[in-house]
Amino acid sequence: MPELPEVETSRRGIEPHLRNRTITDISIRQHRLRWPIPKDLPALAMGQKIRDVCRRAKYIYLKLDNGSIIIHLGMSGSLRICSAKIPPGKHDHIDITVSGNRILRLRDPRKFGCVLWTDQDINEHKLIRSLGPEPLDDGFTADYLHGKAKKRSCSVKSFIMNSHIVVGVGNIYASESLFKAGINPKRKAGSVSLARFEKLVAAIKSTLHESIEQGGTTLRDFTSEDGKPGYFAQKLLVYGLAGEPCSVCSEPVKQITQQARSTFYCSNCQK
Ligand SMILES: [Zn+2]
Repeated sequence: MPELPEVETSRRGIEPHLRNRTITDISIRQHRLRWPIPKDLPALAMGQKIRDVCRRAKYIYLKLDNGSIIIHLGMSGSLRICSAKIPPGKHDHIDITVSGNRILRLRDPRKFGCVLWTDQDINEHKLIRSLGPEPLDDGFTADYLHGKAKKRSCSVKSFIMNSHIVVGVGNIYASESLFKAGINPKRKAGSVSLARFEKLVAAIKSTLHESIEQGGTTLRDFTSEDGKPGYFAQKLLVYGLAGEPCSVCSEPVKQITQQARSTFYCSNCQK
């Protein structure tokens, strides 16, 4: 599933090809994604200039003068830039053509992604307005997390994966960040001290930054002709490493299930 770093990498990959270009055509081959692609999208967006290509949480949006096209990659979506000569494949559901004859193409085999329109401020959109802060923004601090965690009895792992608390900390990044911060993923969120939240916030930011930096090496793939852009295998410390020796203490990494998701941790290093 594309996580925040992949979405940010996608945004950086497509942005230089779209910014300040005019939308000349929109071709929708499959309307039924997670929500239907609005039928009037071509009428609303064609002829408009793309002023900016932005991201909020895992939504990418193309900012036009009269509104925004909101794109989510769902479980299996990917975006790439291609020329009009490349015929669309079976799972290529929408093409947005811009001046210069470049096409932004969404491929989504499982169709859990979406392409929507809003003429509101993006932050007022119903999918976005109740989301927590961006993890890489300055507003995401230990004080903020500590305040939100007060009296919460859920596990600290599910707490940081809650998008109303903070967006973009997916399952892999939660395990990795908790390991770096030395916090047991089963610990109750309300029992984590401010000092330990300081470590956790730093770990979340560094884990996501490293992943985005790694994604930077794949940016050219967004225009490659084989249509497999930009996802990358990150070097992981605990995730997926059950039974392997912990890189710090050599005890075997443990795997448990929390809220139907796998968690990996070292019971010796994480308290
Ligand atoms: Zn360890």
